[in-house]
Amino acid sequence: MQIAIIGGGAAGFFAAIHAKENHPQSTVTIFEKSKKVLAKVKISGGGRCNVTNGCTDIKELSEAYPRGNRKLRKAFGTFNTKHTMEWFESRGVALVTQDDNCVFPVSQDSQSIIDCFLNEIKRLEINLEMSKGVKRIESLGEQIELAFSEQTLVFDKVIVTTGGSPKRSGLDWLEKLGHQIEEPVPSLFTFNMPNESIRELMGIVIENPSVTIQGTKLKSDGPLLITHWGMSGPAILKLSAFGARILGEMNYEFKTQVNWINVQNTDLVLSGLKAIAADHPNKILSNFRPYMLRERLWHYLIERCGLSKQSTWGQTGKKALNKIVNILTNDIYEVSGKTTFKEEFVTCGGVSLESIDFKTMQSKTCPNLYFAGEVMDIDGITGGYNFQAAWTTAFVAGKLL
Ligand SMILES: Cc1cc2nc3c(=O)[nH]c(=O)nc-3n(C[C@H](O)[C@H](O)[C@H](O)COP(=O)(O)OP(=O)(O)OC[C@H]3O[C@@H](n4cnc5c(N)ncnc54)[C@H](O)[C@@H]3O)c2cc1C
Repeated sequence: MQIAIIGGGAAGFFAAIHAKENHPQSTVTIFEKSKKVLAKVKISGGGRCNVTNGCTDIKELSEAYPRGNRKLRKAFGTFNTKHTMEWFESRGVALVTQDDNCVFPVSQDSQSIIDCFLNEIKRLEINLEMSKGVKRIESLGEQIELAFSEQTLVFDKVIVTTGGSPKRSGLDWLEKLGHQIEEPVPSLFTFNMPNESIRELMGIVIENPSVTIQGTKLKSDGPLLITHWGMSGPAILKLSAFGARILGEMNYEFKTQVNWINVQNTDLVLSGLKAIAADHPNKILSNFRPYMLRERLWHYLIERCGLSKQSTWGQTGKKALNKIVNILTNDIYEVSGKTTFKEEFVTCGGVSLESIDFKTMQSKTCPNLYFAGEVMDIDGITGGYNFQAAWTTAFVAGKLL
């Protein structure tokens, strides 16, 4: 059996390895259009490669995927984060799980993952053809013809692992085979706030605020990082992932509401502040921080309310306390534009999951053609979830059922 893998990225290597292990008599060839393989693995996780996530609960795991959630949940039954960790560790790549559940090689170097893959393809005698991009695919009934710039070759099975395409036109060749395409838009970006003075607080992290987008149902929480251009951190990246499409439609111009203390009951907050004022009337407003807020943030918020930092809690009347409640629980910022997160970004959209039989990853329109990785309409939040989707789908596709 002649098997072709189109794309030498994370999903391509993993699919090739499993295809060859499942079908040892076959010839497996990876075709990579560029001069480099595993380029994204190399730069991933700031060069450390966040290879998977420590979460082993399948339901919880699948919730990290704004697109592909339900289908992946089933596929994780076959190959999940636990299997990924075992797979790499059994091949000599020691892994470590950080406190935030992100899993990295102990070497803290993505090259360990690349070396593991290169050793595996050598051991299994998988062919690798670089600078050989596939231009077109044609179904010949049971077989598949791949067109390269100077030749065409015929295969029995083909796995497409070409990764995310930021442009719709990059998916035309797959659409021509009858696959439905979900419009690609960026996911995992940070919010630009060019007109907001909060940027002065750059570098501070707020542990667990909740953040929403005005006029939508989008909501997330988790650490929020103030940057010199606006806001970032897991809470914002999660919002950008779940809101990838809606925020794109808004042309990245919207208002975000921050609840700095993540307490929704404003009456409770007001009575808490009243108690502080009653118990500590002589304390200076800026020196006595409610909810253990970061000092720089608290000072900024007092000024944002138009209150004097030097006044005392006892001097803070009902109106001022209400202002504080409002700023703590519903602080509104104008977002204008996005910045791609330097550590990890992915494409929302791609080949529609409706066009794929997820039990096998086989195309519903082109027999013996399979898909794995980000070329499909699957993407996750940050934390090793995107690679996990690549490993899981490549594992299933590599069965070539
Ligand atoms: C900067 C950055 C950091 C990231 N860090 C992490 C991280 O730490 N953890 C995580 O889980 N995710 C991370 N991601 C996301 C992750 O890298 C991707 O989700 C993952 O690489 C997808 O794997 P893939 O094999 O589907 O696609 P890719 O890795 O993009 O590989 C696709 C390959 O196919 C080739 N190709 C494309 N078209 C053709 C063609 N026509 N013919 C032949 N070859 C072709 C491409 O050149 C490429 O080599 C990061 C992404 C970025 C951009």
